[in-house]
Amino acid sequence: MSHRIEAAKSGRSTCVTCGEKIAKGDARVAELYQDSQRGPMRFEERRSSGGDYYRVSADDREAIHRYHHVPCAASHHPAVLASALRAPHDPALIADRAALDRQLADALEAERKQRVEAASARIGVPREPTVTDPRLEPLLARVAETPDDLEALAIIGDLLSEHGAPQGELISLQLALRELKAERAPDTPGRTLRGQQLAVRASRDRETVDPKRAQLLQRRDELMASLAPRLHSADRTSWGIGFVHRLELGDKSSGRLADLMNLWRHPTMRVLSELRLDLGASTDHAPTFRQLAVELPRSLRRLEIGGRESSEHVLAEVVAALPRLTHLVLISARGGDPSIAHPTLTDVGFEGDRNVLVTHGDAQADAIATLSLDALPAVRGVTVRDWHHRVDPLAALARTPWLARLDRIHIGPSSRTHERSSVTLETVAALRDALGDRKLARLELTGVAITLPVRAALAELCAELVCPAASVTLDAETTHVTHANKPEWGRGEIVKRNAGKLEIKFPGVGVKVFKADAPFLVPSGD
Ligand SMILES: [Zn+2]
Repeated sequence: MSHRIEAAKSGRSTCVTCGEKIAKGDARVAELYQDSQRGPMRFEERRSSGGDYYRVSADDREAIHRYHHVPCAASHHPAVLASALRAPHDPALIADRAALDRQLADALEAERKQRVEAASARIGVPREPTVTDPRLEPLLARVAETPDDLEALAIIGDLLSEHGAPQGELISLQLALRELKAERAPDTPGRTLRGQQLAVRASRDRETVDPKRAQLLQRRDELMASLAPRLHSADRTSWGIGFVHRLELGDKSSGRLADLMNLWRHPTMRVLSELRLDLGASTDHAPTFRQLAVELPRSLRRLEIGGRESSEHVLAEVVAALPRLTHLVLISARGGDPSIAHPTLTDVGFEGDRNVLVTHGDAQADAIATLSLDALPAVRGVTVRDWHHRVDPLAALARTPWLARLDRIHIGPSSRTHERSSVTLETVAALRDALGDRKLARLELTGVAITLPVRAALAELCAELVCPAASVTLDAETTHVTHANKPEWGRGEIVKRNAGKLEIKFPGVGVKVFKADAPFLVPSGD
């Protein structure tokens, strides 16, 4: 069900915009509409703790259609009309489509401006960059191209200070701190504002020995707090020099992204390098994606994005609009898309356990297999994390044509899996076949259980194999182990296997008994 254009079936329907009847046979916009008062009751099945199923009425009603004259929708509900026009309909219902499209574009733009005004007033995002100086743009472009161009940053700082903008002071101050060589690291990425405040306090405590640096740090933090756009507390920003380097928008902000479009033009976001954005799968985000394609800073190198949209290929529009993109990560079980094309993208990632590598029932359509090799000529690396527990992601990759091209594979942990999934020798064989004579430059496996023989076989397929010791598990052939938490016990010999228990004789402490699947027991080869 979606919004649609149709001929009025009778003369009884009323336009909810103007309140007039819609004549029989006239074109009308049928808007899919849901609220808590109108429409048929909706029920949900629940399961009691006793195992019985029962029905409850849902908080909202079934969606119904309500109607508008086409001109009324064009002026008052342009987004609804735009969506209806994208659905199949009889073109004869629209007398002059070109004129309607023009009218619609104007109305959408007016609506967007209104939203931006309202949102800007509400969240304190300035409507214009605070400083407009013709000398600034080429310098910002330089930093977008080379984020650690300290010379360009210093000049930007001077220019902004010349205009009295506090961001200029922030830049000079951060560069000075850098020169003090004391600043150990920029703000840790992925911290909430609260976390950053706590960290700042901790770092201040450490800095009592150097009052000058402590003073600079305090001023830096004041400036960052006053310059940053006010967002929801779940959103995360991490700063580079003078500008936000990485932004993660949580559910709350992602849900009202249309309101936040001016955020991308905020003075602190102008050389943004990384963005994580989970739009959720409950609504159609095609309009948001289209807006993002226009609005996102061209400095972005890494985009982590989730969401679902009715029309295909809109994510491809976003990707194509970002010339410096090197990393694209599809999160929250977002599938691939064959129309995604980019000349310099080097790494793709898949995150989210529901259907990252499995779509629709039994058919395993691997998300990466839906990406086009030809359209992504520079991709050499793939990361998979948080996958569905029934899938062996390495085997799934081996079935795709991508193995002929990839240099780097990273299988990360699957957080929803209670038992670690394991890599089998069959998977290794499939990988070997897919690679042919090639070797991977790097294979990283975290959160995947592998046995010693599997580890040995994998090591032959890559120049560098990275897996935490705790991932390597015992098998029937394992004769010796070490205790990951008690390295001082030395290398123990398995002296007895019995009913899921192992008796292990360690040189230092004698025989100890463990459960056979104890995660801290690490097989030890010769
Ligand atoms: Zn009307």
